[in-house]
Amino acid sequence: MRAEQHAPDTPVTRTCVGCKERAVKSSLLRLVAAGDAIQPDPSARLPGRGAYLHPSPACLDLARRRRAFPRALRTAGPLSLDSLAEYLCGVSDLEIVLPGQ
Ligand SMILES: [Zn+2]
Repeated sequence: MRAEQHAPDTPVTRTCVGCKERAVKSSLLRLVAAGDAIQPDPSARLPGRGAYLHPSPACLDLARRRRAFPRALRTAGPLSLDSLAEYLCGVSDLEIVLPGQ
């Protein structure tokens, strides 16, 4: 485990498992593996290892094609993306604020 240290005024960033771009953690959706399914965790309360994704169907698609989820979440088998896809469809109107604009 890596201890990440950051100054209080430095935003914490995570890498999107879809497009592989770094983004402010609060702009990314946390995901966890729950059994054989990926569960969106918008409030970041679920236990376990998390992966981060832009809340965008495009990034979901990229991650799925790369099979990035089993790798990011350290699971052996395939993971169902149904509930995640459903969640993203519901928030596709979400305004994503990009830093530096
Ligand atoms: Zn992304």
